[in-house]
Parts: sequence; structure tokens; C-alpha cells
Amino acid sequence: MAKYIFVTGGVTSSLGKGIIAASLAKLLQSRGLKCTIQKFDPYINVDPGTLNPYEHGECFVTDDGAETDLDLGHYERFLNIPASQANNVTTGRIYQTVINKEREGAYLGKTVQVIPHITDEIKRRMLLLGKEGKYDIIITELGGTVGDIESLPFVEAVRQLQWEMPEEDCMVVHLTLIPYLNAAKELKTKPTQHSVRMLSQEGVHPDVIVCRTEQPLNNDLKKKIALFCNVKPEAVIEAMDASSIYEVPLKMLQEGLDVIVLKKLQINGYAAPELTKWRSFLDKLQYPKTKVTIGLIGKYIELQDAYKSILEAFIHAGAVNECKVKIVNVHSEFITDDIVADKLKDLDGLLVAPGFGHRGVEGKIIAVKYARENKLPFFGICLGMQMAVIEYARNVLGWADAHSTEMDSKTTHPVIDLMEEQKTIQAKGGTMRLGAYPCEIKEGSLAHTIYDTKTISERHRHRWEFNNKYMADFENAGMVPSGKNPASGLVEIVELPDHPFFIGVQYHPELKSTVENPQPIFVHFIKAAKEFAEKKTAIKNPLLQSEMI
Ligand code: GLN
Repeated sequence: MAKYIFVTGGVTSSLGKGIIAASLAKLLQSRGLKCTIQKFDPYINVDPGTLNPYEHGECFVTDDGAETDLDLGHYERFLNIPASQANNVTTGRIYQTVINKEREGAYLGKTVQVIPHITDEIKRRMLLLGKEGKYDIIITELGGTVGDIESLPFVEAVRQLQWEMPEEDCMVVHLTLIPYLNAAKELKTKPTQHSVRMLSQEGVHPDVIVCRTEQPLNNDLKKKIALFCNVKPEAVIEAMDASSIYEVPLKMLQEGLDVIVLKKLQINGYAAPELTKWRSFLDKLQYPKTKVTIGLIGKYIELQDAYKSILEAFIHAGAVNECKVKIVNVHSEFITDDIVADKLKDLDGLLVAPGFGHRGVEGKIIAVKYARENKLPFFGICLGMQMAVIEYARNVLGWADAHSTEMDSKTTHPVIDLMEEQKTIQAKGGTMRLGAYPCEIKEGSLAHTIYDTKTISERHRHRWEFNNKYMADFENAGMVPSGKNPASGLVEIVELPDHPFFIGVQYHPELKSTVENPQPIFVHFIKAAKEFAEKKTAIKNPLLQSEMI
């Protein structure tokens, strides 16, 4: 029988509920408990797949092809276990299920209402993962902030579950903000008191209060929060700003968050936390020996959440290489032939990001050309891979108008074309080629060196693909399709053997990078960037060069 922890948020959004939930899960996992985390989002979209990255950040894709909230990426990166569709539920999905059932006649004769029909469906889904028998603890993060109209049914579902379950099987952790008023030189607890009161009015009382703060909370302050919010003083947990999200589990360990949770859930006989791998990762992260500068070429660079998994995969790969990875964001719309060298000259590696639509693609193609010609390590992901193919077609094969039919439906050389099965699809939500697919790797290729295995599985999210009609032309000209889907023959990886490191992948390798399993292409890309940087220094410093010889 699984136990349930609900994580709510108060005062303001963006406090990092996902990181707190993931950190708590990590600590419980490190003590030998099997945990998973799920997120319930109050918006009406059935999933975040149709949301603009500017609006909601990256869309995280699971192995089973669910388009989900980016917090699921944190859950996977922390816990090192894959999430699935069941781990992310929205109001839209809840209503869709209830309305479909109503149309089927499941509620014949009854008025379908928020309570009990919507709340029952929320509760059913909240308990779903616990029924699998795989987990000891299910942590449920409630999206939004307490007091929002749209999160009311979720809070009500938690209230009912708390009432239905034995006390030791269910608890609520509330994350709030303790603002520091510079003028008064004081931390303020009132917003927290209000938010706990609001939650209590909705019938849910928190067992633990986690306080985001820029300044340490002293014992008096903790006591004050405890008294006014009606929790034990040891249940007031300080969550100071950390320099890396990966430090948060250790901070929570110090504060005893896991112990108070275990006590409330009456879980006895748990092991001491085993965090050796985590600590060694943090050590490498905090004390790098070298540094590389990587250019991230994309069009959503104003919002860092749009490339969340890529940025995190760089952190994991940097730690493996004991190397600080500095990311320089380059807006693809502003890259032109005249300024490309100036913009990219200080880089040690170039990553062309995924994306949709025509805006900014010409800049991406120019950047690929620069990397190819200047032997700058290159890594293209999804649209980034497609841009590498187009660049090669235009500048090496000499097909000046080569393009993807996504951007130019009339091109005479559609080197990237809509996948066959996509041609009849009209609806937008959940209809891309999504989720994990196997890929067979060509022996002796760069991809083979990187993965050190013949068959891999990576996650996808796209509609267009390499046009196999042109395969022989590319191969004859020197671009190698080094990974293919065994069933369909779709090209998943392209590379250039006459370049020190040039690889483009149709899938999203960043989605599978975790602290304990850094993604191998990212690891090798950073290694290549380090070598590129070393060569540059050797050339700039002849003394070093002669020492190297
Ligand atoms: N727009 C491209 C496609 O759908 C690439 C998608 C992506 O980068 N995720 O094929």
C-alpha cells in the first residue's frame, strides 16, 4: 500500500515546487524507499504539447510518448527513473474523461458536477500510480498557487483523500515564500500565514511548511511560523536559495525534511541516506578543472525554460568532464553571413536547438555552415539536425533552394519532408511522432563510439524527417546516416567523418540525461569542445604549443 505526499504552493508561483518535490523524493529514494512524483496542472489544455515555449517552457516527452510539463524532466533527472503519461494530469484531461463518460451514458440520469464527478476523477488519477504496487510513496505536486480559482477542485480532492485515508498514509507539504524587506532589514512571515490560512479555509491543513527565503530563518522566526500556522517547529523547513538545483536535496537533508516526513507517515526502519553518487557529481560540478563555451543557437532564448533539458544535460555532461560549461545564447534570427564569424568566434562548440516554423531557420543554417567549415564541434538536435542536412544540401551538394517542406513547400529539393504517416493528420494535439523509438547504429561511426552499443532508444517529437530519396547523394558527398530506425528506415543520426565532431540527431537526447546517467552525446560533445579549446590555447600560446610537441 503506497503512501501519499501532496505538495502545494502558496504566496507566488515559481517557488520551485518541482525541485522541492524532486529533492524530497530523492532523499526518500536514498533511504531505500521506492518513490515516484506526479504533477497535476490546473490549466485546461489536455497536455502542454500545444503550448508555446514562451508561455510554458519546454514540453517534456516521456518514453510512452506523453507531452508533459517540464517538471517531469526534473523528476527524471533527480530520481533516474522514467516517468509516463500517468505522471502528468491537467484539468483538461480530467474534464475530457468526465465529458466522454457522460456522452457514453456512464452517468445516465445524473447531473454531472465538479463535486463529486470532477473531484472523483482527480482522486482516481491521484491514486493510480499507487495501485501499480511498484511504489512505497507517491508525491503529487499541485500546479498553481493556493487561492487560484482553477486549483480549487484539486485542493478539494486532496481534502477528501486526507479524510478517507488513515492519518499516517497521507500528508501535505506546503511551499511558501518568506520575503526579505530590505528597507526594514526583516524577513516577513505574514504572506505565509495568509497562504496557510487560505489552504485551511479550503479544508487542507499542511503538515510541513517549506519556506523559500533569501536569508536564513532563525529559530524565533521558525517558531513564529509554527505557532501561527499551527505546525510543529521542526516542521518549518528553511529552503534557502541555492547556487544549483542539485544542491537542494542536501539542503533538505540538513533541514531534516525527509525525517519529518517519515515520522508523519510512520515509516520505520529506513536506511541512512545513500547519496555517494550524488555528492560526487556535486563535487565535480562545484570544482571544475577547465571551462568551455558553448553557443546555443535557438529562437526561444529569451526564456531559458524553453531549453531546460538541454541546459541540464550540459550540467551533467560538464560534471563528467570536470569542466564548467558556459552557455552563450545566440538568437538565430540575428545571425547573418556578415556577422556569423564575429558572433561565433569565441565558441568551443555549437548546439543548434530544436524548434518549429520558419522564423530563425536561415540563421541556424548559417551557423551550421560556420561550424562545419571551421571544424567547430557541432551538435544538432531535431530541427538542428534538419538544418545540418539542409546546409549540406545547399553548400556541398550545390542545391541552392534545398529546404524542409515545413518552411518551403515548393522547394525543388525537399531534403527534409513530412513523414508519410503525418500526411493525413490534421489535429495538432499529441499527433507528432512522439516517445521512445529504437535506433540502430552503424558500426565504426562517431555515434557508435559515443554510445558504445549497436541499438539505442531515444525519445522523439517531430513531424518532418530526412528524405530517404536523397540518401545516396548525401552519402556520396560525405554525410553519413549513422543511425536508422530498424523498422521504418527513418534516418535518426547524421554525421560528418571528415570533421572532428559533427553530429545531428532527429531525436531529443537531452530528455534522457540524468545526474546518474549523463547523456553520452552531450558528454562526448563537451569532451570535443574541451579538445577544441585546448588546441585554440596552444595556437595562441606558442610556448604551450612547443611544450605539447
Ligand atoms: N519542426 C521540426 C519537425 O516537426 C522539428 C521539431 C523539433 O525540433 N522538435 O520535424
